Amino acid sequence: MNIYTQVCGLVIIALLLFFYKKQPTMGLSSERKFKITLFVILACVILDIASCYFIVYSRKYQEYIVIAICKLYLISLHTVAFSALGYSVSDLFEFFGSAHEKFLGLCYQVFCIIGVIVTVYLPLHYYYDGQTLYTYGPAAIATYIFVAIYILSIILAAMALRKHLKEKKVYALCLWMTIWSISAIIQFLNPKLLIVSFASCIGVLVMYFELENPQSSLSRRTGHFSSAVIHEYLDYLYQTKQNFSAMRISFQTTGESADENKLLRQTIEMLSDFLFSVDTAKIFDTAEGHFLLIFENTDFLESTKYQISTYFQAVENNSDVGDAITLLRPFYTIIPDCTISDNADELMMLLANYIPSNKGNSSNNEVIVTAETMKNVRRQKDVEKLVVEAMENDRIEVHYQPIFNIATNTFSSAEALVRIKLIDGSYLQPNEFIPVAELTGRIIPLSDAIYRRTLSFIKSYHIERIGIQHIELNLSVKQGESPTFTTKILQMLEDYQIDPELINLEITETSSLRSKERLHENMKKLEEHGLCFSLDDFGSGSSNLNYIIDMPVSIVKLDKLLSDEYFKDNDKAIAIVNAVIEMAHSIGLKIVAEGIETQDQFDAMKTLGVDFIQGFYFSKPLPEHEFLKFIQDNNLKYMYQ
Ligand code: C2E
Ligand code: CA
Ligand code: CA
Repeated sequence: MNIYTQVCGLVIIALLLFFYKKQPTMGLSSERKFKITLFVILACVILDIASCYFIVYSRKYQEYIVIAICKLYLISLHTVAFSALGYSVSDLFEFFGSAHEKFLGLCYQVFCIIGVIVTVYLPLHYYYDGQTLYTYGPAAIATYIFVAIYILSIILAAMALRKHLKEKKVYALCLWMTIWSISAIIQFLNPKLLIVSFASCIGVLVMYFELENPQSSLSRRTGHFSSAVIHEYLDYLYQTKQNFSAMRISFQTTGESADENKLLRQTIEMLSDFLFSVDTAKIFDTAEGHFLLIFENTDFLESTKYQISTYFQAVENNSDVGDAITLLRPFYTIIPDCTISDNADELMMLLANYIPSNKGNSSNNEVIVTAETMKNVRRQKDVEKLVVEAMENDRIEVHYQPIFNIATNTFSSAEALVRIKLIDGSYLQPNEFIPVAELTGRIIPLSDAIYRRTLSFIKSYHIERIGIQHIELNLSVKQGESPTFTTKILQMLEDYQIDPELINLEITETSSLRSKERLHENMKKLEEHGLCFSLDDFGSGSSNLNYIIDMPVSIVKLDKLLSDEYFKDNDKAIAIVNAVIEMAHSIGLKIVAEGIETQDQFDAMKTLGVDFIQGFYFSKPLPEHEFLKFIQDNNLKYMYQ
């Protein structure tokens, strides 16, 4: 009996099934369809062997039994082809799930049933001469034709949909189908070589190693699912419209980098071992030193988190000194309802946004991400996109707000304030995008654009000739602490041939000591080149007088909040304003009152001895030409008042 190839095929499939069943899988539809294909091929190979047996011992059995077994084998070939097609496009059906695809799927099912009926009804013969054996006749030919159509469909589907399929899958499918076609042609031309079912076994072997080998979806480091498959799994959950929860466990750093790596490794190892006992979630090792837990049943989130934090406590509180272990503290980013985001990309972005910062001293060890958070993150992304587009399309504008000098009775300076011009001609105000730009790091390129625009304006219109002694530019904390800031700004001044004395940079307080030190270094260097500084927004928050003394500023800008409180007769505000003015003047600093809107406010500030006034009382921030006109008109008027 020439069944060597079939037996080999049987061994291959049995081994594949053994390994496949042993490994953890994620429950993706492609995995399920692959498993079905494996079983169908197993049945096909068994029926192939059975048909050989019945043909060889046909004398012992009635003719119709032998033919029935042979036809069952042919039917199994239809099924193999059908399930192979199902596997090929499995990702797509769920992804699109549209009526179109469902209709196409139905057509193929009908086609498969027709194929089976045709095979059942058409006559089939078999041949055995004591050595070689094979089946032939219309049923066999019809099966070949039907299977050929399937193979062609799979190749065409893989090629046509290759944008939506993984490149590897297209390649592996084409390889499988080619092996199958060649073997079918060989068997058709030489019916004695029974290699078709063996070829399908080789085909799935290729698929297994290329795509479905669950080992490749596991992290080598921890043995949990690897970051490579998170996306695929999340895609699957979103496509099947399931509600699920996510919890990321990251670690709060200690700030001492020498110990940190060792501690991190130790923590990951311990937690990883423990997580194998958690069976309520799929666990992913994200390769960045975090674990991501996905709960298909959202009810388990709370209890699992409790279980994990209890574990951490137990390790930390171990009273047995010999066994005491220090671990990094866990930080939980929890998304109870993942349908707040639309797809896997957005969810990953959401998680990435919530990596704990300033971890060492944070007492809070979790953040719960809700629909509200999602709304904010989306808005942030939209704003970020707007900023990037505006930078690319040169729609960043700078408006200038005149600052009145009480001593000279003229507008002797102005503050440069950025605006983004929208497509409809309206302006996006800085409060809507500066905080986002700060958060996302876009503030640096954005500020570069603002500075260049302002310097170009100063250069083009020689604003010093109309009485402007300096332009105040806002300096963000990120810019100020950047080690390249000094050289960058000096280079810009050089590029535009601007006298550094025409520039004043407005700094704000920073809470971080390190950042303050770096800013201080930069300020010192720039001061040597003739630039001067203002302390912005004094009195808006935690402003303290020490900052004025510590930092080399020459102007203090009283925030609108503080002056508003002052005008409301708030005793504390009155005391602060008086103290600041007195102290600033005693050390030779000047004072700007910001946000002055009325004549009364102006008079009050003037009486107080403030040096400069900025506010809507005189003018809003104005576009370049309006600003030039305003200064020309008013400086002449005030100069001769
Ligand atoms: P800021 O530096 O305190 O700027 C003063 C803000 O007060 C400006 O708002 C100005 O239009 C507004 N203002 C001036 N006078 C009055 C008044 O009399 N009444 C009222 N209600 N408001 C007045 P703007 O232009 O919307 O800027 C808001 C903030 O955005 C700025 O506050 C500054 O922190 C930031 N910003 C603006 N331009 C830039 C920039 O080029 N770079 C950076 N890093 N930040 C900027
Ligand atoms: Ca300012
Ligand atoms: Ca201000």
